[in-house]
Amino acid sequence: MSLSQEANPLLEEWQTPYGLPPFDRILPEHFPAAFDAAMLQHKREIEAVASAAQAPTFENTVAALDACGQLLLRVELVFDNLSSSETSPALQAIELEYSPRLAVHASAIYQNEGLFTRLHALYERRSSLGLSTEQQRLLERFHLDFERAGATLGKDDKARFAAIAEELATLTTQFSQNVLADESSFALTVADDELAGLPSFVLAAASQAARERGLPEGAHVITLSPSLAEPFLTFSERRDLREQVWHARRQRGAYAGDHDNRPLTAKIVALRQEQAALLGYATFADYKLADRMAPSVAAVDELLQRAWKPAIAKAQHDREQLTALATELGQPTPIAAWDWRYLSEKVRQKSFAIDDAQVKPYFSLDAMQAAMFDCASRLFGVRFQERHGIPLYHSDVRLWEVTDSEGKMIGVFIGDNFARQTKRSGAWMSILRSQSGRNGGTLPIVLNNNNFAKGSPTLLGFDDIRTLFHEFGHGLHGLLSNVQYERLAGTRVLADFVELPSQLFENWAQEREVLLRHARHVETGEPIPAELLERLQAASRFNQAFTTVQYVGPALMDMALHARTETTPVDITQFEAEQAAKLGIPEDIGMRHYLPHFKHLFSGDQYAAGYYVYMWAEVLEADGYAAFEETGDPFDRATAERLLKWIYSVGNSIDPGTAFRTFRGREPAVEPMLQKRGLLDTAVPG
Ligand SMILES: [Zn+2]
Repeated sequence: MSLSQEANPLLEEWQTPYGLPPFDRILPEHFPAAFDAAMLQHKREIEAVASAAQAPTFENTVAALDACGQLLLRVELVFDNLSSSETSPALQAIELEYSPRLAVHASAIYQNEGLFTRLHALYERRSSLGLSTEQQRLLERFHLDFERAGATLGKDDKARFAAIAEELATLTTQFSQNVLADESSFALTVADDELAGLPSFVLAAASQAARERGLPEGAHVITLSPSLAEPFLTFSERRDLREQVWHARRQRGAYAGDHDNRPLTAKIVALRQEQAALLGYATFADYKLADRMAPSVAAVDELLQRAWKPAIAKAQHDREQLTALATELGQPTPIAAWDWRYLSEKVRQKSFAIDDAQVKPYFSLDAMQAAMFDCASRLFGVRFQERHGIPLYHSDVRLWEVTDSEGKMIGVFIGDNFARQTKRSGAWMSILRSQSGRNGGTLPIVLNNNNFAKGSPTLLGFDDIRTLFHEFGHGLHGLLSNVQYERLAGTRVLADFVELPSQLFENWAQEREVLLRHARHVETGEPIPAELLERLQAASRFNQAFTTVQYVGPALMDMALHARTETTPVDITQFEAEQAAKLGIPEDIGMRHYLPHFKHLFSGDQYAAGYYVYMWAEVLEADGYAAFEETGDPFDRATAERLLKWIYSVGNSIDPGTAFRTFRGREPAVEPMLQKRGLLDTAVPG
C-alpha cells in the first residue's frame, strides 16, 4: 500500500459512531485515489465471481454480486452527499473527471461475459432453484439490469453502447453545471424604492443574498434560487422587475456561449435514441418504460390528459378572475406569465384573509419536525432520539438514533435543513449506507436535505411543511426497509413507485388533528386557532389549476421528446415551440421547466421519459390515503400495519403493482387524485 493510501480516510475501516464517515478528516483530494482504489477492488471482486470454478449457484453468483463493490459504493455515497450539500470547486472538478470514468467502470461490469453467462444460466432455471420470492426477484432484477446495460449485445454493439454511456455521463454532468452557472451568475440588485410589496421574509432572504455577494449592508439582491425568485414573482409590485426575473429563469441554459445547453440536449437525445435502438426498442421512452409500472407511452399520456383537460378548463375560469382584477388595478391585459402568481396571491389574500405575519409563528421548524416524528411513531411505532457531539460535515446538521417499537435500533436519521451557497437548491433524501440483511443486519443511514432560510427560530410556510414531510416520507422508506439484499432495499424501487411513500406522507402534514396538536405559537405555546387552520387549509387548495398545468405541460413535453422516432438531430428550441403550440400550453402560465434547464431529463437519465412519475405515484398516494379516510381515523392501526408491511418495508422485494393491490385490496383508482387537485367536478367542454 502506498503512503497516500495509508493516509486516506476514505479507504480505512471506520471506527466511528454508527460507522459514519469520518467527515472531520475527509478532504476533496482524498477522492481521486479512493475512487481509483475502490474501482480496482470492485473489478477484482467481480472477476472472482465471474471466474469461479464451481458451477453457478444463487449464493456464489447472485448473492455474491449483491455483496460486490461495497468500498466503491461507500466512497460514491460520501462523494455524492458532499457534492450536493457542501460542494466546492475542487469537488466539482473531480465530479467532471470521474463521472465518465465511473460510467466506463459500470459498463465493463455489466458487459462482463463470464458473469452474465452464469447469471443467465441461473435465470433460465429460476423457478426450479428453490428460491424465496425475494431471491427470485433479486435474480430477475440483476438479469434485467445487465440486459438494459447491453450484456446481450454483440462485441461491436457492446463497445458502442459503453462509449455512449461514457459520453452521456460527461454531457449530463456538463448540463447540470451549466444550469448552476447561469443560476449563480444572475443577481438583480433591487434599490430601496423598488421593494414595494415584498414581505419581511423575502427582504431578509434578499439581504442575506446581498451579503453573500459582498454588497454593503442594507442592499437587496434577487437571485434565481426558487426560494427567492418564486416569492419575488408572487409579491413584487414592480411589474417590470417581475418580467426581468421571469425571463432570466426562463432563459437558463439557453444563452449562447460557454454554458449553452441547447446543443448538449440535442446530443443527449440522439445518443439516447441510439442506445434504445441498439437494444431493439423503437424509442427511448419505450426503453425506459420497460422498467416502470406504467405499461406504455399511451397509458402515460392517457393519465396526463385526464388531468390536463380539466386543468386547462379550470385555468380559463381563474384567468377571467385575474384579468378582471388586473383591470381593476389599472394593469395591462391580457395578463402575462409574470402576472399570474402576483394577481392570484392578491385574490388568495382577499378570499381567505391570510396574513403571513400572523400565521408563521405557529409553524416553527422544531415543532413541525416533532410533528413528523410523532406521526411516524403513531403509524409505525418508531422513535427518534437526538444524539449530539458526533462530527458531521456541517455544524447545522443534526442526527437522530431511530428505534422500533421494542426499542431495538433500526437506523440513523440525519437532517440538514438550511440553505447555504455550497448546497444545491431543492429538497431531497439520500443515504450514506443502505439497509440489508448482510453481516447479521446492516442498519441504514438516511439523510434529508431541505433549503429553508435559517432564522431564530426558523419559521416555515405551508409549502415548506409539505416539503419537510415529503422528504421524511422518502426517509422512512429508507429507514423502515426490511429486506435481505441491498439491490432491493428501501428506495431502490421502480421510478414510478418511488414518490408514493413520500407524497403519501405529506397527507399527515395537513391533518387537522396533527396540526392542532403540534402547530403552537412559538412565543406563547398556544395551539393554532381552529378557524385560522381551516382558512389556511382552504387557501392551500387555491390556484391548483395553475400548478397542474405548470406540471403536466413539461411532463407531456418530456414524453413527446423521448418518444420521438425521427433520427434527424432535434432542434430543441423549435421542438419546444412546436409542442407547446400543439399541446396548447397557455403562455400566461407556461411550464415549470423548459428543456434547456430541465435537470430531471438531462442531468442524468432517472427521470428521462419519467417526469410523469410524480402524477403516477400521486394516483397511488391519493387512493392509498383514502384507505385511512374510509376508516375515519388517520392513524387507523390495521391500515397502518398493512402500509408498513406492503409499502414502507418491502423495498423492491416484490412487484410494486402486487404490493399496492395487497395493501389496498384492489387496483388503484384515479379519481382520488383528480379530486385532490380539484379537477373531478369540472365539466370538460368537448
Ligand atoms: Zn420525492
